[in-house]
Amino acid sequence: MRKEFLPYALPLLGEEEKQEVLKVLDSGWITTGPRTFEFEKRIAAYVGASHAIALSSCTAALHVSLAALGIGEGDEVITSTLTFCSTANVILHLRAKPVFVDVERETLTMDPSQLEGKVTRRTKAIVPVHYAGHPCRMDEIGAIARANGIHVVEDAAHAIGAAYRGKKIGTVSELSCFSFYAIKNMTTAEGGAVTLEDEDLAKKIRLYSLHGMSKDAWKRYTSTGSWYYEVLYPGFKYNLTDIQSALGLCQLEKLDTFMARRHELASLYDQAFSGMDELSTLSARSEVTHARHLYPVLLNLERLGIDRARFIEEMRAENIGTTVNFVPVHMHPYYRDTFGYKSGDFPVAEDAYTRLMSLPLYPRMTVRDAQDVIEAVKRIASYYRKG
Ligand SMILES: *Cc1c(COP(=O)(O)O)cnc(C)c1O
Repeated sequence: MRKEFLPYALPLLGEEEKQEVLKVLDSGWITTGPRTFEFEKRIAAYVGASHAIALSSCTAALHVSLAALGIGEGDEVITSTLTFCSTANVILHLRAKPVFVDVERETLTMDPSQLEGKVTRRTKAIVPVHYAGHPCRMDEIGAIARANGIHVVEDAAHAIGAAYRGKKIGTVSELSCFSFYAIKNMTTAEGGAVTLEDEDLAKKIRLYSLHGMSKDAWKRYTSTGSWYYEVLYPGFKYNLTDIQSALGLCQLEKLDTFMARRHELASLYDQAFSGMDELSTLSARSEVTHARHLYPVLLNLERLGIDRARFIEEMRAENIGTTVNFVPVHMHPYYRDTFGYKSGDFPVAEDAYTRLMSLPLYPRMTVRDAQDVIEAVKRIASYYRKG
């Protein structure tokens, strides 16, 4: 058993990040300014989009994107139930109704065959979630959206660096929202971005993300700026600071190296678990570049004398942190009680949930760390194996 606890996730920050943050602190300009504008340019260039707007979180990016599309009271927005709660919460913030669909068993991404039955004349947008960094079936989702005149806003919180049929995520749909939360594929501690092609929509999102003010602080307080501004919409306070963008600029430089490391570690897991019948891993379809944000496994409970909660406790006893991504949103008390969901409504997500466990997967891990995880999983699985 390993001596030191291996956390479920950790960010990887280096000397460059420290130096760049110090430069911002010394510059006297700490909120949204030149570092953030540069970060936006680099994000746009990295994914190949015309516009990128840096924001305080992916939650903010999803909220302001849907708001800028005019989604509000009486509208419906379709998303996957196997996601982080904020994907659905922001729909409620707009007084629209979240409508959930089930996921595909092999990848746990949105199942497009479930969409048709959910589209009504009130449906305004689909929010596909690239679960674990594996892009959804965007051809099918896009075709249904186009046929029904519905917007597509991707929840790409796990998927910076991923690609679908050779196109980077961030350029596939009308809008894509990324997360730079502490343990995502790259981080600004807290942060996010939205990428898009449409210039007018980009202007609107920028406006909505800073109180609806006609001028940001940089345009008001610098020597070439002027004090007068107008409020054109009652917007939000969702801007990213230059301190955070300094981190983001360094992290974006390292993203491809981080990704390669994630793939290396994930393939160690893939090889080690391929012959086991106490658990199964998710698959990656040939048309995608996987961002490998998470490494979820599905425990085969029929083969084990313990449940998932106990398996996680046993992993903790082996000094290894794990987590569960995610409790399906429709099973959370607020959603269950408000919308009257019952067990069996989304059978694939519900079944996956009882068996899901995410293993540590991050570039700071060593091969030895990954081997410790593998050995712990195998030890627990064989000890509690049934029959
Ligand atoms: C992390 C996450 C979010 C929210 O990202 P924040 O930047 O923390 O707001 C949204 N959707 C999914 C699927 C996530 O994992």
